[in-house]
Amino acid sequence: MNHDESRDLYDRALSVMPGGVNSSVRAIRPYPFFVQKGDGGHVIDADGNRYIDFVMGYGPLLLGHDLPETVRAAVQQRASEGPMYGAPTEVEVELAEFVTRHVPGVEMVRFVNSGTEATVSAVRLARGYTGRDKIVIMEGSYHGAQESTLVEGEREHTAPSSPGIPESFAEHTLTVPFNDKTAVHEVFEEHGDDIAAVLTEPILGNHGIVHPIEGYHETLRDLTDQYGALLIFDEVITGFRVGGLQCAQGKFGVDPDLTTFGKIVGGGFPVGAIGGKSEIVEHFTPAGDVFQSGTFSGHPVTMAAGLETLRYVAENDVYDHVNALGERLRSGIADILEDQAPAYTVVGTDSMFKVIFTRDGEFGKGHCEGGCTQDPTCPRYEFCPKNGADVDRAETERWERLFWPAMKEEGVFLTPNQFESQFVSAAHTDEDVEQALEAYKRVL
Ligand SMILES: *Cc1c(COP(=O)(O)O)cnc(C)c1O
Repeated sequence: MNHDESRDLYDRALSVMPGGVNSSVRAIRPYPFFVQKGDGGHVIDADGNRYIDFVMGYGPLLLGHDLPETVRAAVQQRASEGPMYGAPTEVEVELAEFVTRHVPGVEMVRFVNSGTEATVSAVRLARGYTGRDKIVIMEGSYHGAQESTLVEGEREHTAPSSPGIPESFAEHTLTVPFNDKTAVHEVFEEHGDDIAAVLTEPILGNHGIVHPIEGYHETLRDLTDQYGALLIFDEVITGFRVGGLQCAQGKFGVDPDLTTFGKIVGGGFPVGAIGGKSEIVEHFTPAGDVFQSGTFSGHPVTMAAGLETLRYVAENDVYDHVNALGERLRSGIADILEDQAPAYTVVGTDSMFKVIFTRDGEFGKGHCEGGCTQDPTCPRYEFCPKNGADVDRAETERWERLFWPAMKEEGVFLTPNQFESQFVSAAHTDEDVEQALEAYKRVL
């Protein structure tokens, strides 16, 4: 593959943008390929190379790169009627109605412009509502580029994970390992009366893909209820992807107090949202006193893209298609691992998938071939990553430096590190899956 054009573009970019990119994860070494355009389930780069795209914008593009006619028409009409107004529009109400109708834990919703803004606002709302300052998050979790969750360390021994964040932010953030029921019990026993909320993804989608073990969500729900704290599900990735329109909370049968959304709900445009029980969400200004506001919030173009995307999904068998392809990828990769890399683990569910280069355990009879679901009867159960630290202990360097570039040369675009999920879209085909599996077979 020739990458001359991308290299020249990166050379120019380095002079005018820090690290040459606008989001850190894009700064693939030695330089990223620059995308010229999308085409269904593929992207074509500035040098004309074509890749099967399983990054899909890091999650927003459930339908792939070619928007259905209804979505395209709605976006073009909105853009041509004047992109935004600073006054409410009907389309915001329609999207809010759609979300509240389908997501069990959501009675009201406030739209914002990114997943980060959603988690910032949800944490502020939880603190304002409970009158408490502390939040509990999972070690290694990602909730966007925000002060309260960019922490490292364990339990109350946390520190900011980036310069520029005062120590005092981290003082209010407690961390526990995902799936460790004992740890979260202990943290509540010690700090329960000061905890405003537990904030977690229902499935860790930004740090491996780690499924909850049996009863973990219920433990979080029971503890938050017992201590008068809120349970916030960050469904920025899983929302409208895992469990279909009911989202992961519907699939797992858990009832969070607040839910954050982003990615898919904006149909490919910048978006975030905070949903939940009316009694809590109405604490946002102007109904309540927890300040929240935004010039671009509820942007008509975004709202139209999100609404028409979700309507299209509701009227077509999109989830059947993407989930079936996801299953074929996961089980196809599992078969390859059994022969070629039996210590590795296939993870994911619905249309999410990944291989984690774990170091121990054998693939064999009875494993969760459709992706690890933390099934205690699975022979691999004890070897499957249960939390962020387990994923860190896998071969992250080999994944990033050897595996990812080789897959790219095979024409398969994966998320460029071991931690972030990959996605199947409605535009992917059986042939894409076959080709990708052939590439896995050659590269693994
Ligand atoms: C992507 C993501 C965010 C941040 O969303 P942005 O739109 O990038 O700000 C927050 N939480 C989760 C779980 C995410 O995957």
